Amino acid sequence: MSHLPSSSRRNFVKSLSAGIAVGTVAGGFHSEVPAVGSEKKSLGVALVGLGSLSTKQIAPGLSKTKHCHLAGIVTGTPEKEKIWSEKYKLDASHIYNYQNFDKIVGDDAIDVVYVVLPNSMHEEFTIRAAKAGKHVLCEKPMANSSDECRRMIDACKAASRQLAIGYRCQFEPHHLRCTEILRKKKLGAIKSINADFGFAIGDPKQWRLRGPLAGGGALMDVGIYALQACRYLTGEEPISITAQETKTDSVKFAEVDESIVWAMNFPSGIVAHCSTTYSQNGLNQVHVKTENGFVKLGPAFSYEGIQAESSTGPIQLPAVDQFATEMDEFSMSIQENKSSKVSGEEGLRDLKIVEAIYRSCRSGSTVSLVS
Ligand code: NAD
Repeated sequence: MSHLPSSSRRNFVKSLSAGIAVGTVAGGFHSEVPAVGSEKKSLGVALVGLGSLSTKQIAPGLSKTKHCHLAGIVTGTPEKEKIWSEKYKLDASHIYNYQNFDKIVGDDAIDVVYVVLPNSMHEEFTIRAAKAGKHVLCEKPMANSSDECRRMIDACKAASRQLAIGYRCQFEPHHLRCTEILRKKKLGAIKSINADFGFAIGDPKQWRLRGPLAGGGALMDVGIYALQACRYLTGEEPISITAQETKTDSVKFAEVDESIVWAMNFPSGIVAHCSTTYSQNGLNQVHVKTENGFVKLGPAFSYEGIQAESSTGPIQLPAVDQFATEMDEFSMSIQENKSSKVSGEEGLRDLKIVEAIYRSCRSGSTVSLVS
């Protein structure tokens, strides 16, 4: 218990005194937070990395959550400390930089660390957060390699902390409805899938184009949404991959992939054809053909304005803030001792597929995912 911050120790004692057993969540590790039925609270979240996503999406999303709130920040840019502390009324005692971050262990106001840094930094900050006794929500892609993912999962298990990945589309109502239609075979079994996500990337100096920081290019950044959608819409895991990479600008894309097309074969016989790019706008859709019709999403992966239809008509559902929904779900998973549906294992599965896609691009051959 000594490695836990006092808030966690208090929760543990509260659980015991309320006669609530310490729960076990998926993955077989014990979590010392109140079990279902105990008093719920709003968990404090600290954002690590105050770039575009934190500023424009996550912090506004946090203001719409029911079960968590912004409680701290971690930044390498001193000027941002003043701006954020004034805007979000944060006391200096909850503001950290990358060097003194580990002191967060003593900060009872912070339950969850949300890692929103360049991909190569996800592993380090997830492990440091777990060692400080914090639950971790980490942005996608989970890390630069499956080995890094495994170390992140192991560190969170060793610290009895939950780990989830920022797969916001898995909480988006249109995606959920399409998944339900397809998994329940309401239009018959799936025959094939086309899924594409890409955009024309700007500034050639940004970290997304630096191999060591990004771990990869369009595939790691946005192709992963198409890959994920095929997995959750079918409920199956791919058994083989055939992929091809193309470059039209070998200077800008010297360190990362520019465009990749790939096919994924699933156990039931479904084939998904997917594509991703950093050099064209307008690729943002999923089209699933079934025995008796179709399901389409497009725009499929944007922050807002998701649209869907099936062969029986439009699928009209209220819009949600995907980040607020994702963060509330994680807060409830922690408080109810349930593993998040976007757990670290989910991020690891995707990274293994990403690695297989890159292997197929390099070898020019089909890569089997069945051992
Ligand atoms: P960004 O470039 O806008 O911000 C990155 C932040 O990291 C900045 O605050 C920067 O100061 C900091 N940083 C620390 N060390 C750095 C370094 N060596 N080089 C560059 N920046 C450094 O990036 P972003 O768009 O906010 O993306 C951050 C993470 O969020 C990435 O993992 C990305 O894949 C993910 N992301 C997810 C979504 C989503 O929809 N879930 C959308 C965008 C980004």
